[in-house]
Amino acid sequence: MPSLKTAADIIKMERAGAVVAQILDGMQVMLVPGVSTGEVDAYAEAKCKEFGVRPVFKGYHGFPACVCISINEEVVHGIPSFKRLVRDGDIVSLDFGVSLDGWVGDSARTIPVGSVSASDLELIAVTKKSLELAIEQCVPGKRTGDIGATVQKYVESFGFGVVREFVGHGIGKALHEEPAVPNFGTVGRGHVLRAGMVIAIEPMVTKGHYAVRVLEDEWTAVTIDGSRAAHWEHTVVITERGPQVLTLSKVLREGRE
Ligand code: MG
Ligand code: MG
Repeated sequence: MPSLKTAADIIKMERAGAVVAQILDGMQVMLVPGVSTGEVDAYAEAKCKEFGVRPVFKGYHGFPACVCISINEEVVHGIPSFKRLVRDGDIVSLDFGVSLDGWVGDSARTIPVGSVSASDLELIAVTKKSLELAIEQCVPGKRTGDIGATVQKYVESFGFGVVREFVGHGIGKALHEEPAVPNFGTVGRGHVLRAGMVIAIEPMVTKGHYAVRVLEDEWTAVTIDGSRAAHWEHTVVITERGPQVLTLSKVLREGRE
């Protein structure tokens, strides 16, 4: 059964989520042509030290960095490197999480760098909007299938693909808890959402086929057809008063649409 968080737990998760958003904001403004993804990761690591939080991805199943940075046809789990430079026209997905006093926040966003094509901007905007629509489903009595169906219906109406291989998840003291929160599914199916549940919703959307494969580095997942992908994620609490997003950015230019 998914664990239910108390009001005191939520206050701690709010703090973790706020730190995640603030460090993501800082990474986002670094994304200009010529910066290396290794530099962005080093910034995240330094900020974690400054805030006294633990970067939860580092060492998770052996992941070697603080942040996953996935560019263009890379969907998720890209490994930062000082040799990998961001270029004009890239779309860059940042996926980042921290643990603060034992409580975890997790969030992702895809950022266009320089002059990006209109269709890439649409991909990013549709992915972000699908997350916002999914968050509206986060009320007690709804089910994870309502979230998945909402994302899938919206995304597929633009002819984009919804990645099946990776899904959202419960979150709390651990990065990944029950239940699984797929970005596809059927209305009325899946786990019932209850007040006090906290979930990370994270649609991964492709311009082409939704299938992915993992590169030789054993981490980076890329689209099987080389089409570009976008990824947005927020950590969300289900309350009697509706959804509360814990990882909202303070930066107005978020997404830059
Ligand atoms: Mg994440
Ligand atoms: Mg996640």
